[in-house]
Amino acid sequence: MITEDTICAIATARGGAIGVVRVSGTEAISIADKIFRGRKTLAEAKANSVIFGNIVDAELNIVDEVLVSVFRAPHSYTGEDSVEISCHGSDYILQTVMQLLIANGARTAKAGEYTKRAFLSGKMDLSQAEAVADLIASSSASTHRLALNQMRGGFSKELAQLREKLLKITSLLELELDFSEEDVEFADRIELRNLAATIEDRISYLTSSFKLGNAIKNGVPVAIIGETNAGKSTLLNRLLNEERAIVSNIHGTTRDVIEETLNIDGTIFRFIDTAGIRQTTDEIERIGIERSFQKMDKAEIVLWLIDSTTFAGTDNEAMGDIARHCRDKKLAVLLNKSDSATENAVAQCADTIRRALGDGIDIMSISALENSGIEELKQWLVAKASIPQVNESDIIVTNLRHYEVLCKAGESIAKVRTALDLNIPGDLVAEDLNETINILGEITGQISNDEVLGNIFKNFCIGK
Ligand code: GDP
Repeated sequence: MITEDTICAIATARGGAIGVVRVSGTEAISIADKIFRGRKTLAEAKANSVIFGNIVDAELNIVDEVLVSVFRAPHSYTGEDSVEISCHGSDYILQTVMQLLIANGARTAKAGEYTKRAFLSGKMDLSQAEAVADLIASSSASTHRLALNQMRGGFSKELAQLREKLLKITSLLELELDFSEEDVEFADRIELRNLAATIEDRISYLTSSFKLGNAIKNGVPVAIIGETNAGKSTLLNRLLNEERAIVSNIHGTTRDVIEETLNIDGTIFRFIDTAGIRQTTDEIERIGIERSFQKMDKAEIVLWLIDSTTFAGTDNEAMGDIARHCRDKKLAVLLNKSDSATENAVAQCADTIRRALGDGIDIMSISALENSGIEELKQWLVAKASIPQVNESDIIVTNLRHYEVLCKAGESIAKVRTALDLNIPGDLVAEDLNETINILGEITGQISNDEVLGNIFKNFCIGK
């Protein structure tokens, strides 16, 4: 699968003291040698060694003093011959090195092409390649740990074990088929059925771990709801600790970003549809609006903001509607503007809400403007998100593609188990089994097509 082209790319971000240009492919070393002058040539260099020298242009003018790391196939990231040229981190130098490499026969790499080559030459499977992108994007200790484990093959090993079990069922069924004329039941159907059920359980565990995996990776979804002027934008800005959105007391003048994320003590929160906070003119009055409910439906945590200076008992029907929509959510009622409401007014608000929604409701008195009660709110959020500490060895699905494939695999193995339950002939069960094996192969890339690969690698940065 290794292509003939030799590719090159700047692998480091702009503005650093050092910039690295990567070259990979069958001609990587000979092309780099054409622009390198050192005590020995790169072709003479040992594998995995670093050589000091100069990069020179066609007229042998020195472009930079560099260190070149030399890797030889198959012992490199891509599995091909590769060199990495560490230059001084000037844009001019890096671009000149790129131009010289291209003039000598390399071409610029596409996004993710190094990792794609690593996958195609069997250095890693697809789920590991995807973990490389996750690792680069990791923004918390948990996302880092999960990505690292996946990159190091934790998830692949899990899938390999499932595959092995599936192949065991296949081989037992084949044995049964081979001897079917003699009317001997080699494969104990009960044992096969139990094996299928174990696989089904494991796949179901993996699909259900996605909820947690997604929360860890993309943030726990939080909706902030409440009437206009209750202080939703102010609270959001307070939580984000920056004044990115314009806060105004003129209705409907505040709008911008759609979703914001926040990292509190390692837990990532994602505020849903924050533009909606500014767009809907009066969310509670118009609570029948599908949009508000949709926002709540997507959330795991709902913060219902009430202006305690003007709260005159929102009508019970609206309260009931909100409560119904939050039945399986974590809801906090936030009595805002405690700085300008009397203690009595705040207590009265709390009473009314308890009467309408029950004693169990979490109510907090805050001032988004004066920053009081915000620390308690943050701690409440972390406690309600209840993201467990993840260990490096935990297998948690964080990737939507994997989740979707696992759901398909789950349906497929359920068919196998049912067929075994119903004593369906072995050859028919074997077909379903093959389907399950193939579906699982989509995750690791044993089964893949250009479109899937294209979609995965286009999200990588160039140079990775
Ligand atoms: P939204 O329409 O719910 O997004 O409300 P905003 O965040 O735009 O706030 C409306 C007005 O209430 C602004 O003038 C804010 O300064 C003010 N406000 C928000 N929170 C507080 C608070 O805790 N105390 C006081 N006194 N005013 C607040």
